[in-house]
Amino acid sequence: MNEFSLIQRFFKEKSLQQQSLKADGVVLGIGDDAALLQPPADQQLVISTDTLVAGRHFPLDTPAHAIGWKSAAVNLSDLAAMGATPQAILLAISLPSADEDWLAQFSQGLFDCCAPAKVQLIGGDTTKSPTLTITVTALGWVPTGQAICRQGAQVGDLVMVSGKLGDAAYALQHPASDLQRKLDYPQARNELGVALRGYASSMLDISDGLAQDLGHILEASQVGAVLQLESLPLSSTLQLLEPHIRFQYALAGGDDYELCFTISPQRLKGFYEKNGSAFQLHVIGEIVAEQGLVLQYQQAPVELNNKGYQHFD
Ligand code: ADP
Ligand code: MG
Repeated sequence: MNEFSLIQRFFKEKSLQQQSLKADGVVLGIGDDAALLQPPADQQLVISTDTLVAGRHFPLDTPAHAIGWKSAAVNLSDLAAMGATPQAILLAISLPSADEDWLAQFSQGLFDCCAPAKVQLIGGDTTKSPTLTITVTALGWVPTGQAICRQGAQVGDLVMVSGKLGDAAYALQHPASDLQRKLDYPQARNELGVALRGYASSMLDISDGLAQDLGHILEASQVGAVLQLESLPLSSTLQLLEPHIRFQYALAGGDDYELCFTISPQRLKGFYEKNGSAFQLHVIGEIVAEQGLVLQYQQAPVELNNKGYQHFD
């Protein structure tokens, strides 16, 4: 199969056939030299890109469907973290070979992740290389001035997260455990990200571990935080582990793709009045003036030795 029939069969046909894979505002998708989008009035373009390298960002034996899903999900998660509504993705893929079964599963996983949010695959690039490498670029829109940035946390704000932490990191070390799906199929929190516009004072998505990622908010906002470790939302599997082990997963494990945000108690009240219990949210700590991250467990301070995932250590 040559490059053009591969693109046609696994990426173009489906994205044109299925209604749930067509996004509003896409004038021209796959097939020309570039895609054409009609920007919505009074919105800012939000754009982000992430690369997944086989053996580094996912184990080599990860099913193709999960790789496709995750390639899209980690990028949609970055848009969620800005409070953006996702619209489209581009896919640059470097493949060792054109394995048709693999490609069918991969593209299905990618489309399965995109369909619920009506995100359209509008272009990309296909090349051959010894290491499977996938770069997705995601585009979305936010009303002008309403993006939720890392900067903006205020003293007295609550620190909150959108779901359980540490499960993916646990699954990475315990293959075929009951938490495997959390590693293979992260859920981008796009609806929550949009709902938090006008409420959250700062936000990001947790990809490299809560402690490290929250550190980015604290640095950008020039504030500190105190976290209560007993408030961290943990799955029943993690709750069975020794405290120092389960907190290590929750604080320094990667690949959670939950949102971490700060919000004033008053705004949080307003958010709940508007949204009821539509989202599972957890207060885990508070923003303080003194810079740095302080961890407390049963009122006593705790040290964390491994701060989170880094590529060049
Ligand atoms: P060019 O040589 O002009 O860059 P290509 O042959 O690379 O064109 O791509 C042809 C069309 O297919 C373009 O619209 C491009 O965006 C799209 N495309 C290529 N690879 C992919 C892919 N992996 N996923 C989605 N679209 C792709
Ligand atoms: Mg090209």
